Amino acid sequence: MINNTLASLLEQHDKWLITTHKGPDGDAIGSVVAWAEYARQNNKEYLILLADQPPSFLLPFLSDYHWEVYVPNTDYIYELIFALDYNAPQRVGEQMSNFIEHTSGVKIMIDHHPDPINFCQIMISDVDACSTTEVIYKTLDSLDKLGKINEAMAKGLYLGLVTDTGSFRYSSVSAFTHQMVAKLFLTGFKHELIHQAVFDNNSISRLQLRGFALSQKLKLFPQYGIGLISLSRGELQQFDYQKGDTEGLVNEILSIKGYTIGIFLMEIEDGVKLSFRSKGERYVNEFAKIYFNGGGHKNAAGGFYADSLSSVLTRLEGLLNKL
Ligand code: 5GP
Ligand code: MN
Repeated sequence: MINNTLASLLEQHDKWLITTHKGPDGDAIGSVVAWAEYARQNNKEYLILLADQPPSFLLPFLSDYHWEVYVPNTDYIYELIFALDYNAPQRVGEQMSNFIEHTSGVKIMIDHHPDPINFCQIMISDVDACSTTEVIYKTLDSLDKLGKINEAMAKGLYLGLVTDTGSFRYSSVSAFTHQMVAKLFLTGFKHELIHQAVFDNNSISRLQLRGFALSQKLKLFPQYGIGLISLSRGELQQFDYQKGDTEGLVNEILSIKGYTIGIFLMEIEDGVKLSFRSKGERYVNEFAKIYFNGGGHKNAAGGFYADSLSSVLTRLEGLLNKL
């Protein structure tokens, strides 16, 4: 049923606005790029509207497409609004969420985060999918449009898979994921270039920031199998912090033998942003939701707390027994 409705919406409407969450990661950008390519193939007038500036390593993926960062009080008049890789309007930030909630366009969610909020007329939410790009692929399959996947689209779809699965390591990866990769390979895109763009793009200061974090700022709680790293604004400035520089740092904690939860705290302008990662049956999303105004996946969640870094650390350490 949803497919017939979706198929006719896609056919009837020519003005597509493609959005994703604030602080876009590889899956967010891979998803918008793949969908923009699909829009382009179907001669749609599209715009990728981002809530904020993406990290520089993701910019090359956007270079062939129309995109901009949301400008408050602008009338973006589009017939279809795609909400890719997010499950609640708040995930695009306060100002853009107001626009998303009130726009007159038909909203279509394609996502894989648990507990989606019902803010779209069409909700394609597959919480078992390892990435939103996997959900996009399944959606194209159900529309009988897999034949539309070309090299450019494959790049975006693969980017989302690689980044959301830790290079095909997490339990969310399925036989289907690998079948999808096999299909993408047939388009002739160069997978090694995607890995290079994502992982071999360190600046010296980024590498040194990570070395500093691991050697000086890692605090271990062996009784809980939990490790945490915190970085203050001063420390970030010392290493010329650029957006994306701490991406994946929290995963290093999970590589320590016997440690199954990693937490990263980063001081930002108005508080502290937290990232949680876990392995196996230890889940972090409920904890992030209850205590740190956040949420996410069972094994990868985030949150925010408006207080000083030292207060948030004290609060967090007092709560570790709840994890
Ligand atoms: P990251 O640690 O990479 O910022 O976020 C990991 C995952 O946690 C994201 O994919 C997203 O699902 C979720 N997440 C991060 N921050 C928030 C937040 O503030 N609210 C909610 N609901 N989810 C978040
Ligand atoms: Mn994702």
